[in-house]
Amino acid sequence: MNDSIEERIARLHVGGIIDMHFDLPMDLYEKRQRRDVLETDFLPEFEAGNISVVGAAIYVEDRYLPEAGLRVALDQVARLYAETAASERFAICKSYREIQAAREMDNIAFLMTMEGVEPLGTDLNQLRVFYELGVRAIGLTHARTNAAGHGGVFAASGSSAEGLTPFGREVVCQCEALGVIIDLAHINPAGFEEILSITTKPPIVSHTNVRQYYDIERNISDGQIRMIGDRRGVIGVNSILVSPREEESTLDKYVDHIAHIANLIGIDGIGIGFDFFEFIYRQWSETRQKELAAKFTTPHFIPDLTNHSHSRNLTRKLIERGFSDSDIEKILRGNWLRIFEQIL
Ligand SMILES: [Zn+2]
Repeated sequence: MNDSIEERIARLHVGGIIDMHFDLPMDLYEKRQRRDVLETDFLPEFEAGNISVVGAAIYVEDRYLPEAGLRVALDQVARLYAETAASERFAICKSYREIQAAREMDNIAFLMTMEGVEPLGTDLNQLRVFYELGVRAIGLTHARTNAAGHGGVFAASGSSAEGLTPFGREVVCQCEALGVIIDLAHINPAGFEEILSITTKPPIVSHTNVRQYYDIERNISDGQIRMIGDRRGVIGVNSILVSPREEESTLDKYVDHIAHIANLIGIDGIGIGFDFFEFIYRQWSETRQKELAAKFTTPHFIPDLTNHSHSRNLTRKLIERGFSDSDIEKILRGNWLRIFEQIL
């Protein structure tokens, strides 16, 4: 094995990289007056980073709620379908088989996800509608409270002590019955435990960080990490909340989060949920950026892990830090594929 590091990265990337959380539909919706946004704004970075599957998250911002929540969510789905149809390089996939077919054709697969069930209102029938449209992973809440439950706060304590609402429990049970992956990202600690108590399939946390390095209830504790490991679930490591301190928000710190989870539950519990957000953040006015900081936190973007074209930097760092080829392949895609095969 005497190939150069760059050759080794290229070899590890042949099977593609899976990112389970990207706010793509929201951005396509905001750019709805333009055409070919996917090909122009995103394809070059996906290609440079060998991205093969993207969890495309439907997320509705506060300013549209409650009245326009459902319509904005449906418009996001519409833009994703229209943009996908306008390109030969993408496919919206609803099953493991479709994901594998897209990968074999070297297409980039979108797996539609939902971050916060606000679009459903309190109507379980809407869950069926979004399932038919292709949504295959659902997290009940973002940071806010909704009809299903409560989000974890961006502080070391203070989240609601309550778990899910009756509607939230119905959504979870219906997801399991339909074959929708349940995503524990953002949910408050009480909700987290309740979801695990009423489900049997492997859970995921699509994009999060460990409280060991960023102690807020939005992230996950060692106890929660073990609960996911006990159920053979997968935790996607987030690139924006690796440290409360800007100077510590580095690629090495990102890998520290991976190593911490690996120490607790082994390499089979780790995936990627980059949650790249800088491209949206920089479109915002300073006022809006300040509002985000006041409401949640100031995001610290990792300079060499800011968009999908940077995924080679992560693989290079994993090699430098001594991860084996088989471990790296599990982190980059293998563990997510195992979940897709089991549930979708
Ligand atoms: Zn999120």
